[in-house]
Amino acid sequence: KAKSEGRKTFAFYRQELTEQSRQRLELDMALRRALELGELRVHFQPIIDLGSGQRVGAEALVRWQHPHRGLVPPGEFIPLAEEMGLISLLDTWVLEQSCRQLCAWPHLGFIAVNISSRLFCRGELDTQVAQILERTGADPQRLELEITESAVMDDPDAALDLMRRLRQLGVRLSIDDFGTGYSSLTRLKVMPVHKLKIDQSFVSGLAHDSADLAIARSVITLGHSLGLKVLAEGIEQPEQAELLRQLGCDLGQGYLFGRPQPAVDWPSAAA
Ligand code: C2E
Ligand code: MG
Ligand code: MG
Ligand code: MG
Repeated sequence: KAKSEGRKTFAFYRQELTEQSRQRLELDMALRRALELGELRVHFQPIIDLGSGQRVGAEALVRWQHPHRGLVPPGEFIPLAEEMGLISLLDTWVLEQSCRQLCAWPHLGFIAVNISSRLFCRGELDTQVAQILERTGADPQRLELEITESAVMDDPDAALDLMRRLRQLGVRLSIDDFGTGYSSLTRLKVMPVHKLKIDQSFVSGLAHDSADLAIARSVITLGHSLGLKVLAEGIEQPEQAELLRQLGCDLGQGYLFGRPQPAVDWPSAAA
């Protein structure tokens, strides 16, 4: 299939250039363009206080409004953005949009923003967050940064340092997808985090899998004994919400309460 020009030079590479890698290369270029053209969108998913049933916050989740493919989920382009070195640009853009939304929604408790471990491990996040807070005028107490266990454990001392600097700005920190990574309890004990988010893989089996139930119960107990709030992700069924409430889980998030939606589609109560 190779065109005659350049055949000698590229024959070997062309073999390697499978359909998959060709698609990836296209996506690469398209993602760069998306950031420039403003094709990214932030959706917000409600976070509920399981005790009162009140909506207390939201998680910001990025989407890509692709001109041909429609709405592309982050699972398909976040890893790419990380490899291409675009993640820091992307995450700080989401941070800024979220801070603006906080100002537009004075009655919403907080907005949580996902921070890639790539960005976290670069160590300058506190400077960037400070600039965004200053620019937008958002209340730092209402901003929460979600980091993963791997972001913390790659270089625990540097991570702890950065976490303390972020705390000094007034922002809150949570550990996302808790239970799926490896984090040492010794580290967790000294980390200035506010919240643990139980990964949805433990929530889905809650009502029928005794191991999942045991894990959820342990995380809630552990979190509470360290003085942290605990949130369960991916709640889809009322039985799951009820079980978690009985276990003392503080907060919940999932399709049962609401899907991620553009800010304009949110009920006006947030404003
Ligand atoms: P996450 O931070 O753990 O976010 C929760 C994911 O679970 C979201 O998927 C959300 O739409 C989905 N979800 C919420 N409730 C339910 C439910 O009841 N059932 C099911 N099956 N799923 C539910 P989404 O939006 O596709 O995001 C996937 C992941 O992409 C996020 O997981 C996060 O790790 C990452 N991500 C999203 N936005 C950003 C961002 O702005 N920056 C970075 N670095 N990562 C992001
Ligand atoms: Mg998250
Ligand atoms: Mg999560
Ligand atoms: Mg998750």
